[in-house]
Amino acid sequence: MTAVQKADVQTEQNAALDFDAIVIGAGMSGMYQLYRLREQGLRVRVLEAGTGVGGTWYWNRYPGARFDSESYSYGYSFSQELLDEWDWDECFSGQPEIERYCNLVADKFDLRQDIQFSARVASAHFKEDGAFWAITLDDGTVYRARFLVTAIGLLSAPTMPRFEGINDFKGQWCHTGLWPKTGIDYAGMRVAVIGTGASGVQAIQEISKTAGHLTVFQRRPNWCTPLHNRPIPKEEMEEIRAGYPELFELCRQTAACFVHTIDPRGTFEVTEEERLAFWEQRYAGQGFGIWQGNFRDMLVDREANRLMSEFVADKIRQRVNDPKTAELLIPDDHGFGTRRVPQETHYYEVYNRPNVNLVSMLAEPIERITETGIRTSAQDYEFDVIIYATGFDAVTGTFDRMDIRGKDDQRLKDKWTGGPKTFVGVMVDGFPNMFMIMGPHAALGNNPRSIEYNVEWIRDLIGHMTDRDLTCTEARPESVAQWNDFVQEKAEGLLSNEIDSWMTGINMNVEGKQTRTIVRYSGTAPEYRAKCDEVAAGDYHELRFT
Ligand code: NAP
Repeated sequence: MTAVQKADVQTEQNAALDFDAIVIGAGMSGMYQLYRLREQGLRVRVLEAGTGVGGTWYWNRYPGARFDSESYSYGYSFSQELLDEWDWDECFSGQPEIERYCNLVADKFDLRQDIQFSARVASAHFKEDGAFWAITLDDGTVYRARFLVTAIGLLSAPTMPRFEGINDFKGQWCHTGLWPKTGIDYAGMRVAVIGTGASGVQAIQEISKTAGHLTVFQRRPNWCTPLHNRPIPKEEMEEIRAGYPELFELCRQTAACFVHTIDPRGTFEVTEEERLAFWEQRYAGQGFGIWQGNFRDMLVDREANRLMSEFVADKIRQRVNDPKTAELLIPDDHGFGTRRVPQETHYYEVYNRPNVNLVSMLAEPIERITETGIRTSAQDYEFDVIIYATGFDAVTGTFDRMDIRGKDDQRLKDKWTGGPKTFVGVMVDGFPNMFMIMGPHAALGNNPRSIEYNVEWIRDLIGHMTDRDLTCTEARPESVAQWNDFVQEKAEGLLSNEIDSWMTGINMNVEGKQTRTIVRYSGTAPEYRAKCDEVAAGDYHELRFT
């Protein structure tokens, strides 16, 4: 067959498919992937389980939900028109504003016409005969597409605790990640919040303001530091806009794409006085500066980490009136920054309010949920509302909840038993033409920055295939093994990888997620991009094409 004949056959085959590409998820990843693939002339359909765009920012509408990254560093950078048009109201915007932003993007780029809402994907099976993906929705609808792009986020499979009696409770209850659009009326009521991760901390701060009484059920405390949010005046927004090129360039250079730069000094290279002054300045500063802009050894040197933890512990003691409560709020099982640091606004002062009390589940475990509230080992509590801020089956959980099968009918979930293995976090051997945005072992951090990079890399790869009439691509097993070695190597020595958290693949509420695995790429984003750029520049020799 001549090249022209081959191209004709391929065009015919593609026409027989419903779409060139199916993208799962209409959050920030899915919307941008749609925009870029459509630009290349591909027929794309985005399948979204929700009724609106925004992903994380659509589902997590709990009270107090807001950015922990600076708003202006989090928006898309690809469209000057969008940057010109959109003003951020706050340094760390709240969920309603973020959802408005996502809606504006969907409208501005006319994305909705290619997004199918209320479409939850049940399965995706690769058909070797014909080299396409058959994607089946919950309602039985089947679509066939050449490419499958997962844009499902890292934290999109909410998990409930395995308490007995959850459904017996007669009051209102919900998970923070599935907060109803109609809201929950808790003003003046007796409210319980279970969980004190980043979501719980944000929700507790807000709910404590109007709840009749709030009881916080905390298992292991976290190290929380001040967000220092504030409105952005119009003139300042103009300055930010003028500085966008430098700002995005800065995000490209930092380890995790935040605006904060790690201090090149070691903790012990300065005097104690200088060290404390630096930490005071960081504590008074904005956002993740204290975590992502600390001394370079803070997350690898035990003694440096211990001193930093002591510094934050003292701050907690200063802010909480009751010394016993203060001690309960200070972690003793992990050092500062080794789990994701929740960002707070008067969180610790919440425990000085007369309408709030803290129950340590380490001392007083929950035994069951009852019709009227919560029974612990010590007593029965009565509530009108119970809020589960109990986190997510992170990174691989949303993949696991779909029946994804590659060549030889192999399930992705089985392939990833013992921990995920990928090529640059985007591809998996045996799963041809499947691309993951923010997949396991891709660079994380200030996510939209990494999302834009992943999306464009996938677009370029598909473009490379289209230009050469290639139908199918797959990561070579040896490329996956090499990437995995690199990821493991980068994880060595990091204190965070010695701690149980979603970042080390632990979720006590999910079967099979009780052993620590490296689910995260712990190298820097610039290193990650350099590796991916090298792959593209080398004509993708790490992949196999047919
Ligand atoms: P999380 O950090 O995993 O916290 C879950 C909380 O629930 C923990 O306090 C955990 O206690 C508790 N918990 C879970 N199961 C429990 C059980 N069976 N019994 C008692 N307590 C239980 O989840 P999250 O707060 O939703 O945050 C997840 C991630 O989402 C964050 O790390 C962050 O990356 C992201 N997030 C981002 C933002 C933002 O950027 N603005 C806001 C919120 C969340 P243990 O610690 O003892 O397990």
